[in-house]
Amino acid sequence: MNSQNNAFKALPSVDKALQSDSLRTLVKSLGHEPVKEAIREKLNEVRSGIADADEQLIQAIRSEDYIDEFCKDVAERVKKSFSSSLVPVINLTGTVVHTNLGRARLPKEAIDAIETVATQATNLEFDLVTGKRGDRDAHIENSICQLTGAEAATVVNNNAAAVLLVLNTLAQGKEVIISRGELVEIGGAFRIPDVMKSAGCTLREIGTTNRTHLRDYESAISSNTGLLMKVHTSNYEIRGFTNSVSEEEISQLAQVKELAFVSDLGSGTLVDLTQFGLPHEPTVSETLEQGADIVTFSGDKLLGGPQAGIIVGKKELVAAIKKNPLKRALRVDKITMAALSEIISLYRDPHRLAQRIPLLADLARPLEEINEVAERLLPKFSKKLDGLAEVRIEDCKSQIGSGALPLDLLKSKAIVIQPIAGKGQNDAELQKIAADFRQLPVPIIGRIHDGKLIFDLRCLRDEDEVTSQLSMLRNYAVTD
Ligand SMILES: *Cc1c(COP(=O)(O)O)cnc(C)c1O
Repeated sequence: MNSQNNAFKALPSVDKALQSDSLRTLVKSLGHEPVKEAIREKLNEVRSGIADADEQLIQAIRSEDYIDEFCKDVAERVKKSFSSSLVPVINLTGTVVHTNLGRARLPKEAIDAIETVATQATNLEFDLVTGKRGDRDAHIENSICQLTGAEAATVVNNNAAAVLLVLNTLAQGKEVIISRGELVEIGGAFRIPDVMKSAGCTLREIGTTNRTHLRDYESAISSNTGLLMKVHTSNYEIRGFTNSVSEEEISQLAQVKELAFVSDLGSGTLVDLTQFGLPHEPTVSETLEQGADIVTFSGDKLLGGPQAGIIVGKKELVAAIKKNPLKRALRVDKITMAALSEIISLYRDPHRLAQRIPLLADLARPLEEINEVAERLLPKFSKKLDGLAEVRIEDCKSQIGSGALPLDLLKSKAIVIQPIAGKGQNDAELQKIAADFRQLPVPIIGRIHDGKLIFDLRCLRDEDEVTSQLSMLRNYAVTD
């Protein structure tokens, strides 16, 4: 009891702790309140430790340098409470456009533009000629139209919002005709049937999973029809005995019946991807040429820009879409507008795209170069995991991801970690190693497949960062 009382007495006061050197500096940088709060929190914890007769703690409190230890812990608490949980990670998953890892990395031009508009007032919705209210789409509409051949364009928060807004504007209370083979789910919450419902439309699915014919569209059209829709099946492929109706045919039918034809392209590229050794994906301008009245696509998938949804097409339809009150709820801010505008500008010089847009640089990265990265890093990984796992370079295939081109297509190189049999060949060991890489200050994210931890090096640009993170990885002592 006596030693407990003494321990209580020996505890530093809030004021005393605040005057310590380490906490005084913190007060200066982060403020008085958060530091005081952390001291109180720590004091409460220690007090209940003493009350519980924690002998070790009681001994520690009575030592001379306890105050230093106490303040050090408080400082760590305060710093931790200020650290952002949104941090950069190193994407070695092999999925280039990874939705959970934030999709596209922006080029420097876009970052600079963001900084300019973020720090100042801008003419976002202000017409400098008339001095009256302007249209935020005006900053970008012309260049999007120039690149895609569209009559008009508007931009919203993401492509899911674009689809929602288009359906709600053009077909609320009506039926939307779509092939059963195109009822896509794009990860988690975005499913075409659900979006239809949210937009106030009724889904009228036609055909079968593998085959849909023009006559299926024809016979489904009635006075209740709002529009004809096609969704690019971007994250899967139906192969074998299949049939789908071409854009041209649907467009002709829509014209005869005086209905709008909407195409959701999903990833929506502006350039022919075959120049990067990829298979052909329908571009936005091709889809418009084939007769789509409205095309929707993402800003941060194959375009390589900020999160956004772009709607292009016929002037009167885009005008109606812009007037929908939902547009106000789904519009983008000046930061997105500035970044997207820069990206679109970069597309006007198609020859330098692979150097200037990080996403396209990653997609176009030569295998030889990825292999060189692998060879430079192999000894560093091997040394760290020596005795615990076998580390080697293996061929692998990266995927584009985020529903763009569904199949593994890009030949790449990986550093592969395989626990040594007998020491820890089991899945638990592998999971532990993967978790250790995720716990690094700059987490390194790979993927586990077939009993191996695979680090695909396609998207790795900062090798020094990996080396420095490796040095912070826990030491795997060889235990037998
Ligand atoms: C990805 C995708 C969407 C959703 O786009 P976000 O920009 O992620 O909102 C919609 N439709 C298709 C076909 C897609 O591939």
